[in-house]
Amino acid sequence: MSDSYQVTLIPGDGIGPEIIAAARKVVDASGVSIDWKEVTAGSEALAEYGTPLPDHVLQSIRETGVALKGPVTTPVGGGFRSVNVTLRQALDLYVNLRPAVSIPGVKSRYTGIDLVIVRENTEDLYAGIEHMVGPDAAESIKIITRRASERVVRFAFEYARREKRRKVTAVHKANIMKCSDGLFLEAARHVAEAYPDVEFEDRIVDNMCMQLVQKPELYDVMVLPNLYGDIVSDLCAGLVGGLGVAPGANIGDEMAVFEPVHGSAPKYAGKNKANATATILSAVLMLKHLGETDAADRIMAAVRKVIGEGKQVTYDLGGSAGTSEMAEAIIAAMAAKA
Ligand code: NAD
Repeated sequence: MSDSYQVTLIPGDGIGPEIIAAARKVVDASGVSIDWKEVTAGSEALAEYGTPLPDHVLQSIRETGVALKGPVTTPVGGGFRSVNVTLRQALDLYVNLRPAVSIPGVKSRYTGIDLVIVRENTEDLYAGIEHMVGPDAAESIKIITRRASERVVRFAFEYARREKRRKVTAVHKANIMKCSDGLFLEAARHVAEAYPDVEFEDRIVDNMCMQLVQKPELYDVMVLPNLYGDIVSDLCAGLVGGLGVAPGANIGDEMAVFEPVHGSAPKYAGKNKANATATILSAVLMLKHLGETDAADRIMAAVRKVIGEGKQVTYDLGGSAGTSEMAEAIIAAMAAKA
């Protein structure tokens, strides 16, 4: 462990700057020394540099290897690609990691959920290869490669091993898409052979959705191609109470960008109302990635305490605290435990 980590900080748009400021304060209070390199992406960058994702932002992440990012508003029209899709592709962040863990105090139909989604982040129908075939038909091309499938499945098994999880489930629709999903499944089975200590199974995606709603306790780490991963991860966020508490990470071999699952919620921008929990939990994933598991565990425990008590929480968790007050309460809970 080093004395000080360099981390790129991207506040983002809408509620981004407030929730990122809250998460930064919490991380700084954990005692881990971080040299934050703040850069702008999104609307502010568009106004200043003519692009929502200037090259120097990518360069900063290439240098630090780690970024904490707020949500950015995707400009409608104007011909710009989504900042998030561009970031993932430019930096080859091929894994989208989304844990879904119940936090007592967050309203949900379920308790005790502890699931991890490992979503392939670079190909599938999200490769964006589509066109009209005449005026009344459209064609989208689904790309699945052995290389991308094997590396994301390998990540899922390595994660399972490291985090002492019991099982990896590969999710697909290989009964219908025998070539594309068949290749993903074949790749998953091949990689699984190298991890005899971790249980492996596969499920068809529609059945998986029903089972997650009926018996979520049967599952642990799930690995999915891009489209199914996008959909099933939101299902899992719903199991634990929604977007306000759903953290995420985009991870590659060299770099990783940590960010909440939710968007920039423009209607709450500047009002000190937004819930920073998803961003704080994304920072917890970042600290684990840096090897700072003790600080990560202490922040997690403080978040659980504050939400469990339900007094200093934001409106969406049934309270009236502002973004900054909730962050201060989390910092105080950490200090009380120390
Ligand atoms: P959103 O996630 O911003 O908002 C959905 C709903 O959840 C809204 O009612 C919002 O007020 C509420 N909400 C979201 N986060 C919250 C929080 N932390 N605390 C309290 N309430 C919260 O989704 P949207 O409205 O579809 O998108 C708004 C913008 O965000 C769009 O421009 C979209 O492209 C962008 N977006 C960015 C990212 C990203 O940068 N990773 C992800 C999703 C959406």
